[in-house]
Amino acid sequence: MAETQSLTKPQNPHIVILPTPGTGHLNPLVEFAKRLVLQHYFSVSLILPTDGPIPESQNTFLNTLPSGIDYLLLPPVNFVDLPPEVNIVTRICLTITRSLASLREVLKSLVESKKVVALVVDLFGTDAFDVANEFKISPYMFYTSTAMMLSLAFYLPELDKTVSCEFKDLPAVHIPGCIPIHGKDLPDPVHDRKNEAYKWALHQTNRKKMAEGIILNSFKDLEPGAIKALQGKEPSNYKPTIYPVGPVVLMNTSSKVDDESSQCLKWLDEQPRGSALYISLGSGGTLSHEQLTELAIGLEMSEQRFLWVIRCPNDRIASGTYFNVQNSSNPLDFLPNGFLERTKGLGLVLPNWAPQAQILSHGSIGGFWTHCGWNSTLESMIHGVPLIAWPLYAEQRLNAVLLNEGLKVALRPKIGDNGIAGRLEIAEVVKELMGGEEGREVRRKMRELQDAAAMVLNEDGSSTKALAELASKWKEVSH
Ligand code: UDP
Repeated sequence: MAETQSLTKPQNPHIVILPTPGTGHLNPLVEFAKRLVLQHYFSVSLILPTDGPIPESQNTFLNTLPSGIDYLLLPPVNFVDLPPEVNIVTRICLTITRSLASLREVLKSLVESKKVVALVVDLFGTDAFDVANEFKISPYMFYTSTAMMLSLAFYLPELDKTVSCEFKDLPAVHIPGCIPIHGKDLPDPVHDRKNEAYKWALHQTNRKKMAEGIILNSFKDLEPGAIKALQGKEPSNYKPTIYPVGPVVLMNTSSKVDDESSQCLKWLDEQPRGSALYISLGSGGTLSHEQLTELAIGLEMSEQRFLWVIRCPNDRIASGTYFNVQNSSNPLDFLPNGFLERTKGLGLVLPNWAPQAQILSHGSIGGFWTHCGWNSTLESMIHGVPLIAWPLYAEQRLNAVLLNEGLKVALRPKIGDNGIAGRLEIAEVVKELMGGEEGREVRRKMRELQDAAAMVLNEDGSSTKALAELASKWKEVSH
């Protein structure tokens, strides 16, 4: 007779993860969910607040989740009452605020059927902590940026009290545990102290303190000073327990290879090892038309191989016609005349989107021109690909300083007084990264970080241990 299966088989503890909209938030949280399931046998629900249909690239990604992770889209929130100039961060936070009622319903049914022990939100999701508390579920944050940025967040109230001028005028800001930075390199929300975004940033420091723990997408060898400062416990400046579990990055997934993706991977297969520069500005970064032109001509002048993900310039609507192009939605139409013909064989240009994880893991890539988004940075690091840092917005200037002056894994082109990097400068910095002395040095440093990143994820590595510590805490709660 077959052995009777126990009807009371213990349930795995369940974690609910709430990413805010945007690929840069979803990707690392999905990878984090995978680690919880595959390494620590939790089950996970991803609950996704939305403000409309999700992009096709995310859809495909979500439909290939491993067993143990399910996902659910919350009903889209409505923004018709918001003025068009409302900034992206406010919109993201409001997506959470306006989704709280539906989150409450979902959590109610989850706690009835599963042993839910923690709600993990990302850095814009702190409004959901109140709902976690209502259901007596532990509130946690997954921080999708640097330890430096988190250290700044906890330092901001003190800076606010002790400094009277605008921070951007300070020649040196000393974020605990970090290299000094110029005030102008601080993130956008803290640039204007009269602005609502600044008040929001200050308010967020208090909300972060509601978390029982903050899971940080960084690691000890990468940001030792900032992590130490964050883990220091002065009673006057309480901080939640910090778990540095990084790098948590999108791995080389071959979930969906459409025509453009396979074209680009085939092109990479044909290039010599380490010979191509990958150029991409994250999930939404754009350039002015003038800057896009300078970048195109600079690349051509550098005579290096390149793979460029290009978007329509951000001033095209306002300015109307360029090169006889009437408000085209095809980014390739905004390239200088004859560029594609002249660079045929040397470069490949892809409109709007590319399979970045696969590209960065390809041996033909020898450098990455990046907007310094933290996911892109870590994805490059795990493959030892050195950077050209080209920050655009949010905390990217801070990341660029960390990468260039702190870690010395990135070169930075000089920007002219008109806010534009010119073609000569671009050609020089590209040539330097791909074949110059400085390029060799940043490549060497990046390879050291690549090794360090692999070590911290070993069985005995610091990030593996930090995740194990968190997992056993959650398992204790579930008993
Ligand atoms: N990404 C991608 N293809 C693209 C552009 C971006 O797969 O053409 C992915 C990239 O691999 C990363 C994320 O989108 O995981 C972007 O996150 P990041 O933090 O670098 O920048 P953000 O988009 O948040 O500014």
